[in-house]
Amino acid sequence: MTSKNIVIVGGNAGGGLMAGRLARMLPKDQVNITVLDKLGKVEFQPSFTYVALGNRTEEQVSKDFTPMARENVKPIKAEVTKVDAANRTVYTNNGQYKYDILVLSPGVQLNDSKFKGHEDTYHFWDMQSSLRLRSALSKFKKGKIVISVASPIYKCPPVPWEMSMLLHEYFTNKGIRNDVDITVAHPMGRQFEMFGPNIADPLGNWMSDMKINGHYKFMPAYADPVKHELVGQNNESIKYDLAIVSPIQTAPDFVTSNDDLKSKVGWADANYKNFRNSKYDDIYSIGDVISPTLGMGMAGAFTHFEADTVATFIADDVIGSYLTLPFNPVAMCAMEGGSYGWVAYCNFGKKLRDPNYAFNDCSVMGRGRIYKMLHSVYEKYYYATILRGRV
Ligand SMILES: Cc1cc2nc3c(=O)[nH]c(=O)nc-3n(C[C@H](O)[C@H](O)[C@H](O)COP(=O)(O)OP(=O)(O)OC[C@H]3O[C@@H](n4cnc5c(N)ncnc54)[C@H](O)[C@@H]3O)c2cc1C
Repeated sequence: MTSKNIVIVGGNAGGGLMAGRLARMLPKDQVNITVLDKLGKVEFQPSFTYVALGNRTEEQVSKDFTPMARENVKPIKAEVTKVDAANRTVYTNNGQYKYDILVLSPGVQLNDSKFKGHEDTYHFWDMQSSLRLRSALSKFKKGKIVISVASPIYKCPPVPWEMSMLLHEYFTNKGIRNDVDITVAHPMGRQFEMFGPNIADPLGNWMSDMKINGHYKFMPAYADPVKHELVGQNNESIKYDLAIVSPIQTAPDFVTSNDDLKSKVGWADANYKNFRNSKYDDIYSIGDVISPTLGMGMAGAFTHFEADTVATFIADDVIGSYLTLPFNPVAMCAMEGGSYGWVAYCNFGKKLRDPNYAFNDCSVMGRGRIYKMLHSVYEKYYYATILRGRV
């Protein structure tokens, strides 16, 4: 029997998990799995906030991806530049790869330079930027910190507020909280609005208790490095001493430049039932690169369940018969709230079926110091699953 070539683009949350799942589910003589990743790293991105606050080192959060290799799994450091879907070929800066089945999980492209004045701002959406922010925060003794976003679509929608609460704890523990003003300036109408009132209401109260300010319906157009102001698209401006602004985030260029891969909204094309491309059923896409297409936020929780589902569809393609697993549109999200943690539980099933549905299907499952440990527990599980292929 000739074996099938499965090529996976992206070896982190979605692609890395997928490679391990497929290696376990499929007979070794029936598949060759190639994982292409431009960084060649497995990174636990939720810990970028911890890197910025000094609680993690680069080595703890960003690990070489070669331990992912198995008898039939080959991780290769290569940046994908083009996909020729008609000829089933992926082009990279490190060779060309033919596939029978292609899985795209390349996440987002961070476009720092597209935000004017970005040199005067900081962020924590990648490792090097988190380290730069860490250096700035360690010297910050007094003044106003503004956290904002340069595009309404960005990885982990609740993270600006989560970071504001972590900064509250950071400066409280340093004994200078009264000298530091923390403001979240955001295009939404209020804190955690995307989760609905069951989350937004209690979180609003907790943030008021921490004296974290909110400046809403504000979308920055640029940063003025001379006046140290974020200037909004409505010309309103907010002064800062230190600005944390997420970079503009898009699908990677090899997706946006390819009509076969792109959806109507400019991200990767897929549906939430089987995650196949609508023109080429040998291409699956998962993770952040399809979230805007599906109308969902970008979260590792969805990526994980998408990988689980797609792995069963690929097993069905390869073996000829496999009991497939429907997508579970549920997220249990462990978040930091200052010195304690809390867990949000959301079911996005109705929202996926009807984009106009008035979403209110989240609740707070628990709040307390014990929930703060969940971040570290999940971090360990992440590396065990992706690098060592454990369940
Ligand atoms: C600060 C922060 C906090 C977060 N907190 C949470 C949280 O608490 N809970 C949660 O559920 N989610 C959280 N997330 C989101 C979560 O990390 C992402 O949703 C998840 O990593 C998406 O997985 P992915 O596989 O789609 O993309 P990624 O994990 O980003 O992986 C994409 C991979 O593709 C590679 N790649 C990109 N382009 C190319 C190319 N052209 N060629 C080859 N390789 C390429 C990259 O190097 C990368 O390794 C957070 C994210 C950030 C940044």
